[in-house]
Order: sequence, then C-alpha cells, then structure tokens
Amino acid sequence: MSTRKNPAEPRKILVTSALPYANGSIHLGHLVEYIQTDIWVRFQKMQGNECHYVCADDTHGTPIMLRAEKEGITPEQLINRVWQEHSDDFKAFHVAFDHYGSTNSDETREFAEQIYLKLKATGLIEKRSIEQYYDPVKQMFLPDRFIKGECPKCGAKDQYGDNCEVCGAAYTPAEVKNPYSAVSGAKPELRNSEHYFFKLSAGTCQQFLREWTRSGTLQPEAANKMQEWLGAEGENKLTDWDISRDAPYFGFEIPDAPGKYFYVWLDAPVGYMGSFRQLCDGRIQDSGSGIQESLNFDEYWKQGSDAELYHFIGKDILYFHALFWPAMLQHAGFRTPTKLFAHGFLTVNGEKMSKSRGTFITAKSYVDHIKNTEYLRYYYAAKLNGTMEDLDLNLEDFIAKVNSDLIGKYINIASRCAGFISKRFDGKLGNIDSAATTEFQSAFNSGEIAHCYEQRDFSRALREIMHLADVANQYIAEKKPWELAKHADKDAELHETCSTALTLFRDLTLYLKPILPMLAAQVEAFLNISPLAWNDIWKALPAGHTINTYQHLMTRLDPKLIEAMVAANQESLQPQVQSEQRHAAHQQHTANKEAARAEKEFEPFIDIAEFSKIDLRVARIVNAEHVEGAEKLLKLTLDIGEEKPRTVFAGIKSAYDPEKLKGRMTVMVANLAPRKMKFGMSEGMVLAASGEAPGLFILSPDDGAQPGMRVK
Ligand SMILES: [Zn+2]
Repeated sequence: MSTRKNPAEPRKILVTSALPYANGSIHLGHLVEYIQTDIWVRFQKMQGNECHYVCADDTHGTPIMLRAEKEGITPEQLINRVWQEHSDDFKAFHVAFDHYGSTNSDETREFAEQIYLKLKATGLIEKRSIEQYYDPVKQMFLPDRFIKGECPKCGAKDQYGDNCEVCGAAYTPAEVKNPYSAVSGAKPELRNSEHYFFKLSAGTCQQFLREWTRSGTLQPEAANKMQEWLGAEGENKLTDWDISRDAPYFGFEIPDAPGKYFYVWLDAPVGYMGSFRQLCDGRIQDSGSGIQESLNFDEYWKQGSDAELYHFIGKDILYFHALFWPAMLQHAGFRTPTKLFAHGFLTVNGEKMSKSRGTFITAKSYVDHIKNTEYLRYYYAAKLNGTMEDLDLNLEDFIAKVNSDLIGKYINIASRCAGFISKRFDGKLGNIDSAATTEFQSAFNSGEIAHCYEQRDFSRALREIMHLADVANQYIAEKKPWELAKHADKDAELHETCSTALTLFRDLTLYLKPILPMLAAQVEAFLNISPLAWNDIWKALPAGHTINTYQHLMTRLDPKLIEAMVAANQESLQPQVQSEQRHAAHQQHTANKEAARAEKEFEPFIDIAEFSKIDLRVARIVNAEHVEGAEKLLKLTLDIGEEKPRTVFAGIKSAYDPEKLKGRMTVMVANLAPRKMKFGMSEGMVLAASGEAPGLFILSPDDGAQPGMRVK
C-alpha cells in the first residue's frame, strides 16, 4: 500500500489515538483504543520503521469551564490536574506515546488559526445567525447538554436537552417541555447569535469526499457507512458544520471575530498536529554544525507527503474523522490521513459498562485491584481483529485466558526449564536440538504473524503464537526434563532440552513483545540478551551463553481480585451518569435513536439458526428465597438435569411468594453467559411474561416434562 520508492527503507509513520476529554477519568472502554494503538506502534518500531505516536488531552469547551468554576479553580488548573491523571493511567498500562500534549497549547492555536484563515480564503467559511437557548442569569448560551426539561415523548422530568434516558427518545432542545438551565435553574430564552460554519455541503467538499472515502482509506464497513452518509452521486446529504461558540467559553478565540471561539471541530483534532509539532520541537538538536531538526513537521503534514498518517478512533467518531477532518485538511493545504482505523465499543460480560453492575471500571481502579496491566493488554489483543465489531470483556473468560494461555502455556516453558540451567549447568546454555528447532520453525509461518500485526488482527496473531507455544510444550512433554534430571548419565540431553526450550521461549517472547512489553523486558533481563527486534527471530542463543537466575515472571490471575474490583465499582442503582463526549454528539444522537428503536421493535424475521442458538431447558425450582437487600430479586435454585443445580437471580419478587415456587417446573435460558451480580453469580434466566396489564407470569411446561428437557 505504501508509495515509497525503496521498499528497503524504513517507513515513516505517524500514529494517533483519539484525544480523551479532560473532564473525566480513563476507563477500560477507552483503553481498548490506546492498547490497540500501542501494540501496533510497538510492532512497527520492532520492525525498524520510523514510527511516532502522539496524542493529547482535549481540553476546551463549556463542560470544562463550568466544572472548574464549580471546583473553585481555573480551567488551566483543572486540565493540568487531569492531564497528570491521564498520563499516569496511560503509563500504568504501558501506552508509550512519543508525546502526550494538550490542545490548550500555542502550537494547536497556531494551526487552528492557520486552517481557519485558509478555509476562509477559499470561501468555505460562512457566517449565519442561529437561534439558541440563552441562560439570562448565567448570561451564556447553553449547550444542549446543559438544558433540561420534560421529555416531549414520555413526559419524564429532568431529562437532557438532546435525549431522554427514560424512553430513549432523541430530540432537539427546542422540543423539550418546560426547559430550564442545568447551570442556574433559570428558564432559558431563545436568542439569536452569529455563528461560523464550515461549508461541508460545498461541491468541492462533496467531490473530494466521494473520492477520498472510496480510495482505501477506510475499512470496508466504514466505507459503506460513508456512502450512506454521502448519498448517491448528485445527491447532497452533507450539511454545514457549526465551528463557533459564544463567550464565555474556554478555548481559542477566532482571530477576526472577538467574542467568538472555535468549537471542538476546529481545535480538538488540530491537537494531533499541535502535539506532533511539540514532538518535533523537542527533537531539535545542536549537531555541532548548527541547530537542526531531526524530525521534520512538514515531512509528515505537507500536502503530498509520502509519510503515512493513521488515526485510531472509536466508531462513534468516524463520521467526524472521515468527513469533516479530511475535507478541512485538504482545503487548508495539508495532507489527509492515509487510513482511519475504527474499532467497536467495549462491553463487559456482554453488556454495556454499568455502574450498578460494577462494570464501569476506571483505569485507576483496575490498577489498584489487579495491578498487572499486561493481563488486560493480553486479553484485549486476543479479542481485537481490526474490524469495527464490539469487543467483550467477559470477566470469567479473562481469568481463564490469562491463566491457561499466558501462564499455563507460555510462562510455564521457562519455569519448567530454567531452574536446571541454573542449578546443574552453572547458568550456561548448551547446544540446541536443531531437529526440534527446525520442526518448530516449520510449524508456522513467521511472516504470517507480522502480517496479522500489520492488519491489526491481533487475535489471529495470538492464535498463531499460542499454537507455537503448544508445539514447544509438546517438545518439553516428550523430553521430560524432570525425568532426565534423575539420571546422571542423561546430563547432556537435559542440558540440550532445557537450552532448546529456552530458545523457543525467547522466540515466543519476541512475538509477544508488542503486546507484553514489560514482561518481554523481564525476559530479556533473565536471558541476559539485548532488546529483541523483529529480525532476531530464530537466531539461536550460543552454547556457553550465561543466563540469569529465573525469577517468577508472572503470577496467576486470582478471581478474588476481579470480584473485589467489581464490588468496589458497584454503585447503588441510579440513572447512569453520562460522560460528556463532545465529539460523539452527532453519533451519540444517532446511536440513541437506534437503541431506542431496537428496544421497541423486533426484527421482522430471524432464521431458525438464530433461534436455535438459545438453549431453553425445562427446570425444576428446587429452592426459592428472598435476597437480603434486593428490592426485586428472588434467588432461585434450578435443576436442569445437570450434576449441580444452577443459581439464577430473577426479578419476580413482586409477583411470587418464594414458598409457592418451590417444586414448580418452569423454563430457563441455559446458555446465557453467567453474570456477576451484587448478590452472587446468576447462571441463566427464567422466562416470564409481562405486558401493558399488571402482573408478571413465569412459564410452566405441561405435566410430564422432565428437568433438562430441551424446549425448541
Ligand atoms: Zn422520554
């Protein structure tokens, strides 16, 4: 895909992750992207490519201004504090930016002004008067999120100005009934204000975007989405984007418009450039023959640059990064991104992260409870495949995968062999079993692993790597070093076996290094070797090479730590606090509408294959009891013909006396992923009917049905 003239030359690559907003903590959902990007960047660096990874805090806007005011500090004090927190979180998860900046920087301001003035000169900026809610007490225009009132659809009180958390409806602030300002409580007035717009609807933007979005810059599913948004040839579905806000506002004032500020679109992403500019400036060196720049900004950003530029983003900000951003760069005289890499959202145990379930977990909380962040890097890598599919963190599977694969298959190779080298051979390696290593090398294609990394298909890379670990374990199982060690005359074979196993362990470590950088560094220290690069593969460690004494590299993940973490994050049931995601405003809107629709309507048809995925079983209610502290739940013990009965927490307390349920037969979903609840693990779901009329009714099979019978 590269246009480089000489393929032997290292590629020049600039990589970014989306800018986190400086108004909240980094959580496990954010980390999907930073870990994904970091793995990719580390892989590129191991390949010998010149790869730079920059990011920054997104620091401007009304929410920051108001929060600082509430805390009695300046916005600068707030964003500095949050910058430090974010930086600490990223460091803990080994996300190694080459530079982590802030959009509140002179560099970002300069680029924002430069882009704005160029767009204006090209005729792509337009002034328009718009009507907007104004808080007469606070004397400021109100963003949608700061208007509250009654939902126009269901009448629920105290809903946000853009969507209802009770019925899921999406609407505009003008539709809200009895609106009030969330800042002062005052009744807002509609007032006119001059706003600046970027004319995305202009013919030149449409034309450019039609070509750009089809030129291989997007994943196939993203390109399809774009065609939908762009509409058919000749159709003009794009609208102009409002790029200004009125004072008071924390941000950059528009150069020729006093009292008007750049809104997020014209400053947050410009932070990619500002942060890279800072990286370049930090690399200015005095080489003796004068000051020179070792990293040249223009080489990466000027129009026609042959350096590669990649933005890793969540699918929620695709609309913005695939339309507004490239159109703006193109018409302001900068290069456009080589590719956008969009990923899906994180679910935990198959559901949206939730404070009431204790699955809304911050980076810091993970570190406090679990400590080892490479467990999570490993698990995310095992799930990431380079598509926009959502990724599920199933906490039980997480424990199982870390313990069986990482510890059981990989770490075990070293822990079973290293001791003999230290104790019996003075820490020196012996000859390598070349027949075994040949077999090992032919067991897979090492180019394939590099290809998987390049394509961000980390899950496939890990499957290949773990296959290799299986082959290595098979070798050890056949040779049985622990048996060889019992016979003095088998010393040479023992030495060869352990040396070979440790060489294989070195190769596995090399492949895992982008995912597990700290562990790899520990292994490098233990094996007494220099940092592993990609082309070190299969270079055997020489006989006589001295290694250091083996120390535990990684311990098993204790399920109790996960339980404690979930319990610590569990809050009593309350409406979920929505985070302020300015960028995602548009997509959030769309997503909410879709979610609301999905809840009310069913697919008109599903096929039998989809239905047969649900394992419905006849169950006998062996026991039913109240749960202390639970308002709605009963704890049911269900016999479905298995060795051990299942425990299910069912929300049927309002309808049933537990005593009367005992001994009854019902129907349960037996293959629903177990779900950790505040009161214990729920291992399925019983079926019950409810509707407009009051009441809740569990199902019963006809007489004669036996526990465990399948319902189909
Ligand atoms: Zn509603």
